[in-house]
Amino acid sequence: MKRVLSEELFRIAERMIPGGVNSPVRSFQAVDTFPSFIERGEGSRLWDVDGNAYIDYVLSWGAAVLGHAHPEVVASVCAAAQKGLGFGAATPGESQLAERILSAFPAMDLIRFVSSGTEACMTAIRLARAHTRRDKFIKFSGNYHGHADTLLAAAGSGLATFSIPSSSGVPAPCVEGTLIAPFNDLAAVKALFREHSNAIAAVIVEPFVGNAGFIRPAEGFLEGLRELCSEEKAVLIFDEVITGFRLCWGGAQTLFHIDPDLTSLGKIIGGGLALAAFGGKAEIMSHLAPLGSVYQAGTLSGNPVAVASGLKTLELLGKGDSYARLTQNMRKLVSGIADSAKECDVAVQVDGEGGMFGLFFSDAPVTSFESAKKSDLMLFKKFFKGVFEKGIYWAPSLFEAGFLSLAHSEHDIVKTLEVIQATLRDVKKK
Ligand SMILES: *Cc1c(COP(=O)(O)O)cnc(C)c1O
Repeated sequence: MKRVLSEELFRIAERMIPGGVNSPVRSFQAVDTFPSFIERGEGSRLWDVDGNAYIDYVLSWGAAVLGHAHPEVVASVCAAAQKGLGFGAATPGESQLAERILSAFPAMDLIRFVSSGTEACMTAIRLARAHTRRDKFIKFSGNYHGHADTLLAAAGSGLATFSIPSSSGVPAPCVEGTLIAPFNDLAAVKALFREHSNAIAAVIVEPFVGNAGFIRPAEGFLEGLRELCSEEKAVLIFDEVITGFRLCWGGAQTLFHIDPDLTSLGKIIGGGLALAAFGGKAEIMSHLAPLGSVYQAGTLSGNPVAVASGLKTLELLGKGDSYARLTQNMRKLVSGIADSAKECDVAVQVDGEGGMFGLFFSDAPVTSFESAKKSDLMLFKKFFKGVFEKGIYWAPSLFEAGFLSLAHSEHDIVKTLEVIQATLRDVKKK
């Protein structure tokens, strides 16, 4: 694959933008190369500036659930833009989007829109602290909740890729109240509650982890968190920024019939534009300004163009058998990868749920970030190089989930599996 223009653009970008990228997960540093610069996307496909086409399994980190540039979403966005790009004032679309999301999340009485998942999770923690008048909270290693100071301890995603245990520039007192437990380890959570009795405000969790690769919750784990938080009067926060509207209509809480106290959302609900939200029980959400004493604000919060994109995306996603189709293609992909790996004698753990999936090069089941880290990084690098060169746009990190869109056809999956099979054969030979 020729990537002459991408390389040239990367050298230019590097001179002005640290690492040449505006978010570290876009860097291809972990796979020893430079990123492809994207010219455009349509459906399941991306085209880079050199004219190479890719079948995309990153999909704007899951946001593009309908595929890229869906004509109806683009039309809605253009129509909204023509009426003005934003006013910093209330608009009717915000209530329409709120209604659509609240009807899909029965545990949510009230919702507020923000511009990023980072803001949503940061404010959820602030609310929980105010509500309980306690300072500490529990998060799980390898879970990523955005880059607010207090949440940058044992985080996943880019921090996992680059092995930064917690970011420098975060003063120690900021993460003093951040207690870490391994994902799927209920006993560890119980021990923390015992050790810090009446001091823990919240437990925040990615119910299916998407930022340490894909990791599913063990049976009873999420239910156990719900019980513990209720007993301890702590706020249970489900970070469904990835899983919201990706696993099913609603989120992991819908699949498991669990009512978290607060939920954060992002990615899909903006349909590719900057929109995120947090919501939950009225008694907690009512602490927010202007009703209560917890401050939170945003110039671009509920921006009308982003709201139009989110509304149309959810409208189209809510029609027909969207999740059956996503699940069917996910299963075909996951079982195809498992079959190829077996045939090529490569130790692989592959799993998925709804429109997300993940792959580890390991012979032991992956149930936590600690076990994910035992995955073979060299094998992943060879795998990534092999599939990318053959036109499969895969996340350039072992610690990211993969995503499917409704625009991915059966033919896309078949083609992807052919490439993966050929790559796994090569990987084994070397
Ligand atoms: C992406 C993500 C965030 C952060 O969202 P941004 O919009 O990038 O700030 C938070 N939590 C989870 C689970 C995410 O995947």
